[in-house]
Amino acid sequence: MSQTASEHMNPGELSFRPFAREPTIQTIAIIGAGFSGTLVATNLLQMEHPRALRILLLDRGEIGRGVAYASRPYPYLLNAPIGRMSATSTDPLEFLKFIQRDLPPATANDFVPRELYGDYLQWKLQRADAASPSHVRLVRIQGSATAIEQTPSSFRIRLADGRMLATNTIVLALGNPPPARLPAAESVRGSSRYVEDPWPTPPNFEPGESVLLAGTGPTMADVAIAGNESAGGRAVIHAISRHGLIPARRTDFRTSDDQVGDPAPLTQPPLSIRRLFRLTRELCEQAVQSDRDWRGTISRLYAIAPTLWHELPEHERRQYLRHVRVYWDALRHRLPPPTWSAIEELRANGTLRVHAGRLIAMQIAGKQIRVRWRPRGERTERMLEVGRIINCTGPDYDLRNTPNRLLHSLFTRGLAVPDPLGLGLLTDEFGALRGASGRAVGDLYFVGPLRCADHGDTTEIQELRAHAEDLARHLATRRPRHVRSL
Ligand SMILES: Cc1cc2nc3c(=O)[nH]c(=O)nc-3n(C[C@H](O)[C@H](O)[C@H](O)COP(=O)(O)OP(=O)(O)OC[C@H]3O[C@@H](n4cnc5c(N)ncnc54)[C@H](O)[C@@H]3O)c2cc1C
Repeated sequence: MSQTASEHMNPGELSFRPFAREPTIQTIAIIGAGFSGTLVATNLLQMEHPRALRILLLDRGEIGRGVAYASRPYPYLLNAPIGRMSATSTDPLEFLKFIQRDLPPATANDFVPRELYGDYLQWKLQRADAASPSHVRLVRIQGSATAIEQTPSSFRIRLADGRMLATNTIVLALGNPPPARLPAAESVRGSSRYVEDPWPTPPNFEPGESVLLAGTGPTMADVAIAGNESAGGRAVIHAISRHGLIPARRTDFRTSDDQVGDPAPLTQPPLSIRRLFRLTRELCEQAVQSDRDWRGTISRLYAIAPTLWHELPEHERRQYLRHVRVYWDALRHRLPPPTWSAIEELRANGTLRVHAGRLIAMQIAGKQIRVRWRPRGERTERMLEVGRIINCTGPDYDLRNTPNRLLHSLFTRGLAVPDPLGLGLLTDEFGALRGASGRAVGDLYFVGPLRCADHGDTTEIQELRAHAEDLARHLATRRPRHVRSL
């Protein structure tokens, strides 16, 4: 089907007219068109479908970008090199080829702005849409889904502007939740000097301004660099987290490093966090001793992490969350070398001061916010005065008290349940949501980072890509229960 023929639905245009004439058409609605949702749609468009298929691709923002790959005033870098960012498992260098069309000298080891990755996703979707057969149609819809209702024969999606969508199957691809509310920030919530989520508004610091960033992970690194630049290089930035750990630096993309250390011993029983921690350290040390890159060991471990996570008993999972996750995150979610070097430079010249400790309380004091905090391992509290505070603690996967209306509607209807350990949603092997009964709800799926309850860490594109491909294959080969009833 040609791109011009693909449908873009505007408010008021939503109708189910074609379904009445085509009773056997199957409709799959994908809510969220960031990386995961766009890839499910793209893969579906590229597959064989025996029956007519309509794919409704819905997003409240721009289709094909999501939070990570949105167009932004600052050129934030991808955290993995071009050679690791293909959105297609069958063509590992597809993203490189896409980039080389405009930048022929680019190599697999280069790091490019995230916005270019959004261009790539949009290009993939457009190309798949243009090449799809006439009985497969893509409908792009702009709108925000606020509730899902299950009728005996289908689902209905309610949008914020009052529109309703009927569909046989729903794929939720809602992305990462916003950061958790900082308990210490209760008294400053609502103040223009406190930013609860760093991504909707670009960091805009004033020259000479003192800023506190809560969190020391990749979000902090992005905000510190972009914010300091907005202040003409004259900001004073404090960053604080419990351990004060800055993510490790990425090294060059060498496939041989992925073969460092045989991770087989890790999968052998007894599976305990203490043993896994010890074995991982040993494997990294062996890598260093044989003059190879220890990061290859971490990448290799990452590949088997879902299996390990699946096998771990609940009390061991709790041990991991309490004691190990913070170290794993700092090793696994590494910074691109230019970002890492910029952070090192900001630290060396005193612009960025990293603290290990706990935020206790905040209070507005004129144009400043007064912050009480306690350094790690100390009893005495300290005080900081800053002009602005930004919550950079990263996504909060604990959905038990989520303010998200759509998820809340699913929980109240028993169509989904939050993970009791605070790791997203409970799903089965294809991402079908488990409802209140514990069984998978037919025809209602989730794809994206919130599948971490069943897969452990599910944030980077390599595993999300695999999930999107698996889900599209599953949707294309199974017959939904309600195909005739819309
Ligand atoms: C800032 C940032 C940078 C990252 N950088 C990298 C990187 O460099 N490399 C890497 O491998 N991973 C990176 N990640 C990890 C990231 O999780 C994945 O790469 C990927 O973007 C997640 O895709 P997603 O589709 O699940 O979520 P998103 O891409 O965020 O998409 C979710 C979409 O759902 C839409 N949506 C949500 N709720 C609704 C609703 N109710 N109605 C309608 N639409 C809705 C949103 O508008 C959004 O477009 C980054 C993550 C972040 C947050």
